[in-house]
Order: sequence, then structure tokens, then C-alpha cells
Amino acid sequence: MRRVTQDLLLGGVFSALGCWFAYALLLSTGAAKAPVAPPRAAEPTWPALAEGPPKVASYVIEAKLDSERHRVTGRETIHFVNRSNSALNELWFHLYLNAFKNDKTLFLRSPFGAGRSGDKAKEYGYVDVKKLIVRGGDGQDLWAARDRHSPNDPDDETDIRVPLSSPLEPGAELSLELEFEDQLPELIERTGFVGSYHFVGQWFPKLARLEPNGTFSHFSFHAQSEFYADFGDYDVTLDVPSGFTIGASGSRVREEHEKGRTRLGYRAENVHDFAWTAWDRFEARSERIAGVDVRVLYPPHHERNAEAELASVRFALPHFNARYGAYPYPTLTLVHPPESAANSGGMEYPQLITTGGPWYSTLGGGHFIDVVTTHELGHQWFYGLLASNEHAEPFLDEGFNSYAEAEALEARYGNASVYGAFGLSVSSTALNRLFSAARGEDEKIAQGAADFATFRSLGALVYSRTATVLATVARVFGRERFNHALGVYTRKFRFQHPTKADFLNVMQSELDGRAVTALTLAFSERATVDYLVREISNAPLSAPAGVFDGPGGREQKKAEAPHDAAEYTSRVVVYRHGTLQLPVEIELRFEDGTKQLRHWDGTGFTFNVDNVGPSKLASVQVDPEQRILLDDDRSNNWLSTQGNSAPRSRERALYAAQVLLGAFGP
Ligand SMILES: [Zn+2]
Repeated sequence: MRRVTQDLLLGGVFSALGCWFAYALLLSTGAAKAPVAPPRAAEPTWPALAEGPPKVASYVIEAKLDSERHRVTGRETIHFVNRSNSALNELWFHLYLNAFKNDKTLFLRSPFGAGRSGDKAKEYGYVDVKKLIVRGGDGQDLWAARDRHSPNDPDDETDIRVPLSSPLEPGAELSLELEFEDQLPELIERTGFVGSYHFVGQWFPKLARLEPNGTFSHFSFHAQSEFYADFGDYDVTLDVPSGFTIGASGSRVREEHEKGRTRLGYRAENVHDFAWTAWDRFEARSERIAGVDVRVLYPPHHERNAEAELASVRFALPHFNARYGAYPYPTLTLVHPPESAANSGGMEYPQLITTGGPWYSTLGGGHFIDVVTTHELGHQWFYGLLASNEHAEPFLDEGFNSYAEAEALEARYGNASVYGAFGLSVSSTALNRLFSAARGEDEKIAQGAADFATFRSLGALVYSRTATVLATVARVFGRERFNHALGVYTRKFRFQHPTKADFLNVMQSELDGRAVTALTLAFSERATVDYLVREISNAPLSAPAGVFDGPGGREQKKAEAPHDAAEYTSRVVVYRHGTLQLPVEIELRFEDGTKQLRHWDGTGFTFNVDNVGPSKLASVQVDPEQRILLDDDRSNNWLSTQGNSAPRSRERALYAAQVLLGAFGP
């Protein structure tokens, strides 16, 4: 999900625009750079892509929507394979619609409205499981023996243990038959109804992910957490009133019309979730892009948004294919919710993403539609195909995807990737830096979603700071090398549920030890860095004066007048605060207009830059190309000598503008 969607986009694009204008007017650095060349096509050095995942849990679901009462009645068969190395005596089900059952659930009980939207429920929702039997078994209803609530939480029913009547050995398979009924809530977070619009996510009884050691990674639905599940195939038949348009994960494979109802069958293979929407006012556009059938569903009068979304996919789908391995599915559905249901926007599901924004989102130079579309599309790789544990390590999805989003948008728009008009530009990278600057010591990036103090803290660290860490490593150690390394990771671990350790192992082999150390410290140790300059000294360099005893006897040499000096010796001291040791460039500017660049490997706490030359040192700038986006305070990276205050203040103002915008550099 795009975090700033809630803050800036769907919450009111005009207020956001005001915000961008303020930045832009204050901080203009001129016209945007031209877009860089698209990434190279796949190279022979890429790891081979897996054809498909090990399938653990596959679902056949028949669901019928009562659009008046906002209920979904379902029958479900789960084909489950014990791919772990242990016999199983129990199953864990996620009943995440129960997060909206009442105000005492884990999700809703915070008095502050702790979720992404901060919303409280208006009309509640829940899922009732009517029956659970093993096909071909003794007909016993396993649901009767379930635990009644989530572990150690009598008020929550989102994480439910069901004992098996006999152990399921490694390699053994099981078909489970369930009946369930959903009451959808009035739209809260991403799920529910508004009028006749329905967005149906986290809606069916779903197995938690089975780990190789035979434990289930199960967790109650927490307001700060997203999801984690096994791969499988989904065959879902949706029965809705005639006149409703459906959008769903997967490809449409069946269609029937009968007695005022429409029944559409969808098939999604090698995925780990299934979501859908039904509304009687959707308009639709379809287009084949990079071999994928792309369909956009949008409200009336949103044609410009639909076109902008397709344009984003036209650019970003081939871009991501080249960067992270080809999108393997035949279809992709984009859903632009009506403004009354904005909270279902900005979200990712397999083969289906939701965008959002008012009808005027494309006006005025802001790329808001491109930002949200590119972000959610990127999730098809970082959430969909990698499928890391978003509860335990959310930064592996949202943070990496925020980097991918910024990289793709900047490839398309240069530094004007979020806003560009009137010669002013704001980039995603600059915003990520802005949102996360000076928050590096608040909490660890690499921790569970529920462990963050607030969702705002999670947003700053998991989304923005993670993206800033990756962008810093890319700029310091080489963008081509880093992007290639990230592409190796996304290909090698496709369908594999990778962890932080898997990522770092790839970085170790593709980059080097210093990069891995920086990534490890930044993710796990709250490491920060701040380079600063404290003093500049210039002294005339003249022949030594004094009394000298030499072979020819004693000699007295007089000091020359300083203004006669032909050379000056200059020194500047650069300090490194924080524990991140990143190599950095230091630019020296002399009074005669010449410049020099010095390199510091970033080890040690201080670095003396000495120079002997014909001109005095006038100013110094650490990291002139702003590669170290993590630098906590850029205002102390620049210093000039005393005595030229007017030019200095102009120079400083320009520098401050560039720093705050952060939208220039390599
Ligand atoms: Zn996201």
C-alpha cells in the first residue's frame, strides 16, 4: 500500500498540491533532468526464474453477493499439502474480516484509530464459519473443536486454531470443505461497502502460512500489519446482481447470466490471495500491455485518471519486467474506487491493484496518479511474487517497493517524479528523505509491523527510510551494480518468501562487505550518519624563517610579509557523527574559482583535508552530489571562510534550497 496515499493523495489532493507548491516555490532548483534511459534488457547473468511456486494451499470458492445487505455467502474447498518436514496436528485459520466485528478486536480497540486510515467502524463486519469437514473423512465438523478466540486474546477472533482429528504426515494432502457467511463492514481501511460499491478483501477463511519446520506463521489482524500466506491456485466463482461490474484477481474463465444474476468464474494460478470488487457504476477500459491484458475499472467522469493509470502501466510494467523479472500472469486489473470509497484505494492484491484520487488528480502538474499506480504495480513483485512475511518484516515489501517506485518514476520523469511544473520539481526520493530524516534512531527498521510505536513511525521507517537506505547504498556503491543486485534477489527468490538474511546474502555476493555492513546497521541497529564541516583554515606558505644551523654555519632568515606569499596551505576538518561509515566526496572551492574533489572512505571520526596551492580555500561541501541521502543534517555539510558574508548567505540559501528539495544529484 502507498502510505502517502492516505496522507496526501486521497485525503485531499488540493491540500497536497498546496504542500508541493510550498516546497517547490521555496526550494526550486530549476528544470527537471531529462529521464534516464530505461534499464537494459535481461542479461544472461540473471538467475533463472522459477516457473511456479510449491503449491501449499489452493482454493475453490463459490461466493454470492447480497448487494442490499452487503453479505457474501460462500462455499470453499481448500486443497492443502503438508510440505513441511513435520506431522501436523492442527491448522491455523485467519478470519480477518472479524477484525471489524466490534470495537474490542485487536484491530479496532485502539482509542486513537491506529490503522492506516485512522477510521473507526461505522457498520461492523464479520465472517461466520458454518462448517468445516475433511472431504472423504468421517464427516466430523472440525470447526466445532476450534479455539474460540485468537491466542491469549479473548476479544479477538481473527487467528483461530483448529485441531485435526488425526496427524497429517509430511507430504500428505487434505481437502477441506467449508461454508461461511461474510457480513461486510461499511468501508473501513480497505474492505467493505459504500452504497452499492463493494470492495471485498480478506474475506474468506484462509490458512496461515505453513513454514518448512511444520509451524504456522499465524497472527491476529493488527491495524499496522499486512499479510503473509502460501502460494496456490484460486478458482473463484462470483455471483452478483445483473448490472454489477466485477473486477477480481485472476482471469475470467466462465460467464453465466440467469434470473437477474451474473455468475463470473475467475482463475488465478500461483498466487497467495484473492480480492474482488463489484459495483453497478464502474466504467471500464482494456488494453494489452507487454503481453498482459490490463483492465481499468473507474467511476464515471474519471476518464483522465484511467488514461493516466494505463500510461503508468505502459511505462512501469516493462520497466519492472526488466528490473525484477517478467510479470508471469496473463491479466492485471486496476480498480479506481469512487471518492466516497477512497480508503479502498492504494492497495495491492495478486493481479489486482487499487489506485485512487479525485477526478482532477491529473491536473496541475502533480504525478499523483502515476505515483500510486507505479507503487501498487511494484507490489506485484515485492508483495506478490516474493511474498515475504509482511507481519514480521514489513520493510522487505513496503520499503523495497518504495525504492522500486521511486526508481521507476525517476526513470520516467527525472527529478519531477512527484511534481513538475513551472520549472519546479519534486522527486519521490526527496520526499522519502524528507519523511524519514532524523527518524533513524526512533526505532529499528527491521522489526515486526505490530512492534512499531505508531503507524506514523512505521510509515517513516518501513516505507521512507528503507527506501532512503537503499537509494543511499545505490548512489554510494553504484546504481547499476545495486539495481542489478536487487534484480538478482527478486529473481532468485521469486515464490520463495525471502527474509532479510536472504537479501543480505545476495548483497554480499553482488556488492561488497561495506555495503552489507551499512545495510545491516541501517536496518537492524538504528544506525545514522551525519557528515559535518567545522572549520576552514588558510595560512600563507612562505620560506621558513628563524635561525638555522647548517654546514655553512649559522644563518638567519626573515619572515616574508604574508601578502607576498605565493602559496597557501589550507585545511578543513570533516567529522562523521553516527555509526554508518559511508565513503564520501568532499568538494573544495578556492578563491580563484578552482575546485578539487577529495575522497574519504568514511572510516574514523574525523578527516583532515589539506591542500597547498596558489589560492585560499573559500568553501567546502561534503557530499556535493548528495549520494548519502541518509545524512541526517545537510545544513552542516557546507562551510565557507569568514569575510564574504553577502555571497556566502546567497550561496547558503541556494544550498539550503537544494538540500531541502534533495532533487538534484547523480
Ligand atoms: Zn505499498
